[in-house]
Amino acid sequence: MGLPSDPEALDRLHERLLGWFAEHRRELPWRGSEDEDPYALLVREIMLQQTRMSTALPYYERWLERWPGVEDLAEASEEEVLDAWQGLGYYNRARWLLRTARKIRDEHGGEVPRRLSQLEQLPGVGPYTAAAIASMAFDKPAPAVDGNMARVGARVEGIEGEVTSDKLKREVRTRLGPVFERGRAGRLNEALMELGSLVCTPVDPACEVCPLSPVCTAYQGARVDELGIDRSTPDLSTHAVTALILARNGQVLVHRRDPDGLLGGLWGPPVIEHGDTPPATLAPDLPFAVEVDETEPIGRVEHTFSHKRWQVRALAAEPREEVVTGEAWQWVDPADVDVPTSALDDRVLGLLDG
Ligand code: SF4
Repeated sequence: MGLPSDPEALDRLHERLLGWFAEHRRELPWRGSEDEDPYALLVREIMLQQTRMSTALPYYERWLERWPGVEDLAEASEEEVLDAWQGLGYYNRARWLLRTARKIRDEHGGEVPRRLSQLEQLPGVGPYTAAAIASMAFDKPAPAVDGNMARVGARVEGIEGEVTSDKLKREVRTRLGPVFERGRAGRLNEALMELGSLVCTPVDPACEVCPLSPVCTAYQGARVDELGIDRSTPDLSTHAVTALILARNGQVLVHRRDPDGLLGGLWGPPVIEHGDTPPATLAPDLPFAVEVDETEPIGRVEHTFSHKRWQVRALAAEPREEVVTGEAWQWVDPADVDVPTSALDDRVLGLLDG
């Protein structure tokens, strides 16, 4: 069981899958031709790495209006791209896109490279994104194995293991390779992802209407409950964090975070990360003396990163020395912040509205 090795049988399966997709696919705003603009695809795939499609769509449209080509983006500043990314989260993706655009301009003559190995060298482009671009823009026979396709592939081919593991995804990529050699690789990727999303769901897949059921190892062997399972559970540690709201004349002091750290390059009130609980007395490590009102927080917010959770309390504080503003520190109007900030900082500053 599994994909047939006979070329004619593979062709029939290929046709059946694409036929199913033509009939059942959901209409998406950016699902269009089979020779998509590779730069637009690159922007879209990087935006979708951690963000829902409905959230990313307006950002994607504004981004392409502002930087319609890779060379336009390569000329942008980091400040500008972070500003355009505000609200999407995981800001490293904006920096990767900028570095990728500059690399394409400097090393590939302004053209998105066509080879998988070259695509995977671009910042922020992993095996999935590289395969999506190679197949959808250049019709290369590259399976783009996301979580949905990993589940379908594991069940059809009878591959054991966690669907989230790189090992299983590599195996799925190899085993599905022959059907991608039959052509229309971009559409095939979309079809398999859609099948995983609509039919081959994690629980109670609709095998009776699945175009792959005649060759599916899991279905034919009554092992659907055993294969393509995600048992991984994110283990997020929780940290207490204090944000200092230093206010003066209706303005709040924000600083630009270390570009290589968490929320790097974005502006926000200074934060201090503790262990499980804040210490009895704070000793902020700032370039100027401050007095902190530890009696009553202004408010609290919780924020979840990919790897940890912050429980933030915002405390009022006052600088006791002159603050040198410029590259690292700025006074801003909390209701109209004109420097790039993260969603977390927006929520902390939003506490002042109440
Ligand atoms: S037959 Fe069932 S388990 Fe197999 S790919 Fe289709 S939906 Fe998934």
